[in-house]
Amino acid sequence: MSRGEIQRMHEDLSRALKKPEDERSWVMVVDVRKCVGCHACSVSCMAENVAPPGSSYRVVFEVESGEYPTLDRFFMPTNCQQCDKPPCKAAADKIAKDAITKRKDGIVVFNYEKLKKNPKAGEAAQKACPYTAIVADDGTFYTENTPVLEPYETRSFFEYGKKLTRKGGALKGAIRKCTFCLHRLREGMLPACVSTCIGRAMYFGDGSDPKSLVSELISKKGVWRIKSGEGTEPRVYYLGFETRTKMIQITPTTCLECHE
Ligand code: SF4
Ligand code: SF4
Repeated sequence: MSRGEIQRMHEDLSRALKKPEDERSWVMVVDVRKCVGCHACSVSCMAENVAPPGSSYRVVFEVESGEYPTLDRFFMPTNCQQCDKPPCKAAADKIAKDAITKRKDGIVVFNYEKLKKNPKAGEAAQKACPYTAIVADDGTFYTENTPVLEPYETRSFFEYGKKLTRKGGALKGAIRKCTFCLHRLREGMLPACVSTCIGRAMYFGDGSDPKSLVSELISKKGVWRIKSGEGTEPRVYYLGFETRTKMIQITPTTCLECHE
């Protein structure tokens, strides 16, 4: 992704924000050829969303494929896939109707109050998610048992249009996940992981806008979605698996293979 691509995503975003919410369709695209496994996206996500200790809404898996001597190892960042048919919602609905809802722009919303009141609904949702994208907030802090909790842990932050804090165990018992940084989108900013990605592997935008960069990318050959065969209809698309397979067959290769 070049500087021009970042600028283009910002332009796409500002065009999308001029439309009504129900005419936007947020999608994320990850190019696995470009991810260098630095975990900067996970760290920025933890900081942005004040995640509980040891948790991140975003996990970068290491994938190994092939057989000796044509082995390959690459990185696969994942987060909530904002499924259009979310198994988490189907499971939670059986216990607490509409504790999990789906916005018209595609983002799956967790209602913390309802889910905290109905812990069984949260447990069912967590179990049902095929992407292990849900983390439980246990109310603890990294700086617990020190003279004072650090401000980065007790500061307020925004999720689903609400001002929140973890102070005083306010989110203890809540189940949490990626929100596509809805609070940043509203302000015309890209999700934290996309802005932070040093490999320039991350893309975000309005999939219903034929002129957007993400629409161009997801129309390419070889685009793939995790467990799409399970009917979840995930909104995170992956690019580059085919090229990676080719790369291990045509070594030596060059950076230009992926970075145009
Ligand atoms: S990835 Fe998991 S948490 Fe996210 S919408 Fe799909 S089932 Fe729900
Ligand atoms: S910041 Fe970008 S390059 Fe680094 S692990 Fe995340 S997706 Fe990969």
